[in-house]
Amino acid sequence: MNTSSATAPAGAIRLPAVHLILSDAGCEALIAEYGRVQTLEGARALLAELRAKLLADRDGGDTSIPALLAMLSARLREQNASPLRPVFNLTGTVLHTNLGRALLPDSAVQAVVDALRWPMNLEWDIDTGKRGDRDNLIEDLLLELTGAEAATIVNNNAAAVLLMLNTVALNKEVIVSRGELVEIGGAFRIPDVMTRAGAVLREVGATNRTHLKDYDEAAGPQTALMMKVHTSNYAITGFTKSIELDELAPLAKKHNIPLAVDLGSGTLVDLEQYGLPHETTVRETIEGGADLVTFSGDKLLGGPQCGIIVGRKDLIAQIKKNPLKRALRVGKLTLAALEPVLALYRAPDLLPERLTTLKLLTRPAADMRAQAQAILPLLQAALGAGYVVTDEAMMSQIGSGALPVDQLPSYGLVVRPAAEGRISNALGVLEQRLRALPLPVIGRVAQDALWLDLRCLQDHQQQRFIEQLGQLAA
Ligand SMILES: *Cc1c(COP(=O)(O)O)cnc(C)c1O
Repeated sequence: MNTSSATAPAGAIRLPAVHLILSDAGCEALIAEYGRVQTLEGARALLAELRAKLLADRDGGDTSIPALLAMLSARLREQNASPLRPVFNLTGTVLHTNLGRALLPDSAVQAVVDALRWPMNLEWDIDTGKRGDRDNLIEDLLLELTGAEAATIVNNNAAAVLLMLNTVALNKEVIVSRGELVEIGGAFRIPDVMTRAGAVLREVGATNRTHLKDYDEAAGPQTALMMKVHTSNYAITGFTKSIELDELAPLAKKHNIPLAVDLGSGTLVDLEQYGLPHETTVRETIEGGADLVTFSGDKLLGGPQCGIIVGRKDLIAQIKKNPLKRALRVGKLTLAALEPVLALYRAPDLLPERLTTLKLLTRPAADMRAQAQAILPLLQAALGAGYVVTDEAMMSQIGSGALPVDQLPSYGLVVRPAAEGRISNALGVLEQRLRALPLPVIGRVAQDALWLDLRCLQDHQQQRFIEQLGQLAA
């Protein structure tokens, strides 16, 4: 690459040759970190951009070798930064699907680290020295915690529902109430999953009211399954009627049709004992007569992303034989994380201390209030006179479709633009500044203010939060 040709414009002549940049002592650290090939390509791309800039307006800024190395370093750092990054979830939604749902306890973190570094007996029975089944690693624990006869595990709850329908109801009818044809986050809709699973949806009742006789009349030789779906993210109120398990289970039995329940979030303990609203447990659903129950691993359960199917032994055996099971199975990292989380449920009294999700959900508002008061002056100082920060009570929600109408009293910081007018612009700028921090801070805009709910700012992460506030001022 010759930048000193006689016909080159004056500006371009000032750019050093690429080999001079690469052989400069200041480049050694970059080569050591990013490798010679990537550093060379980065330097060439940088020079090409500067050359174009010089040709256009003849101002390439400082083009000394130290200045170019600084630009190259920034460029390589940005190019190599992971697009998947940790953030502060101050949205007030504890199980935020877009922010990765449940945070896992340290015991699960350590198990995943081991599983990443070591070969594991994933499908190897250590007692017999023979091939094993990966489901066996967690099945006993799941049976103990749910009272079910058998269990299997797949990639997520959507996969669990798909696999269950495809196994039990291929080319046959599945009876579902019109009040339960849910859509979860856009892509998961019961009618669509039903079609993709090869099952035929047989809707019964009306949106607001479904009666037992609706199920009864729809059942026949073409029916493979009756199914109840947790109305995870909405509530139908007013003149309503839905059939609960205690009525539906005997009817399904009378027709000799299996009954499935998609619990969605699915919890393994009675949450009321921790002062949270009641959510039907998996055990209650099994005891209530469900033959199959599906639920997520990373919602209220507080584990890794996965879908769990528990229920009748013969049905689970069929599900495990479905070739789709292989396509939907989980890997060792998921199983490594899930087992210690399930094990925590053996000590329900210690769960709010040990299970991160429950710890966050049961955090007393006074905790968040103390945090808010400590952080308020620091945030106010960092934001300057353009904004007013106050500490206020607010409401968190569980998220991921768990108990959609219940809210948890919380506390946090509210930021309002100081000046009247152009509020939305000032809020947009504020959100953008918070997102630009090394650990982006994500809040919630409502009522002309930015709400930062501190429920999910864990004590051990508070220092990181405070340290980076200084960069807001810049
Ligand atoms: C969340 C949910 C699903 C989907 O579960 P994923 O784990 O997100 O795949 C399915 N059904 C119900 C009722 C849900 O609440």
